[in-house]
Amino acid sequence: MSASNEIIILKEVKYKDNDKILHCFSRSMGKITVMAKNSRKTNSKNLSLTQTLSHISVELYKGKGMYSLSDGEVLNSFYSLKNDYDGFVYSSYIVEILNHVLQENENYSKVFDMTVKLFTMLSESAENIEVLIAAYEIKLVSILGFKPWLESCISCGREDGKYAFSIPEGGLVCCNCREKGQNYVYLNSGDIDCLKLLLLSRFDDMGKVDICSEKMLKLIGFYFRHHIGKNNFKSLKLLGGNGNV
Ligand SMILES: [Zn+2]
Repeated sequence: MSASNEIIILKEVKYKDNDKILHCFSRSMGKITVMAKNSRKTNSKNLSLTQTLSHISVELYKGKGMYSLSDGEVLNSFYSLKNDYDGFVYSSYIVEILNHVLQENENYSKVFDMTVKLFTMLSESAENIEVLIAAYEIKLVSILGFKPWLESCISCGREDGKYAFSIPEGGLVCCNCREKGQNYVYLNSGDIDCLKLLLLSRFDDMGKVDICSEKMLKLIGFYFRHHIGKNNFKSLKLLGGNGNV
């Protein structure tokens, strides 16, 4: 059985003398493992196909166990992401996220395309990296089933309140519905506009977004990590935090 497929390589592991095992994000099959035979030989035609972060189009064969890689072409190696510090840290963060959230045998075409777009923008030295990362987080968490509710109070439906945001409840809460002892992030209308913009705008249009405060970018990060169920990221520790941002 063979499948022509687009994949992003999340991790390459040396195997035996000349082989590699690749942990990959497949556009149509989610998380897959691929054996790349002889790909570490210096004259291998697959040498450039099997590098971490590369976006490739390949012919895969399913054997008894994992997939095997035969012919393919590199669509983008995202080479610069491996040589630029910010690009390296943030692409490592995305790889950690994908390793955590992707399942096997599921179609993730939207997430895949969004990831390629983000890597492309990061590799072109986008200026507002933190906005791009927040947009990726809020879009991804929504695709995974945790879209934040930003139209009215999530509890009573009231539409004219002064809102706060509840991370565990996943949306706006009016002043009547807030409970003592709960943590809320208080929002003004500009804050809500920022969340909606990052949630609804196309990735292509994110390059010049400048209305988002540091507070909103942090809120999105907290919200994202709470709902995907992972707080500790090695890559974020490199940014000077403790990984539990
Ligand atoms: Zn309410």
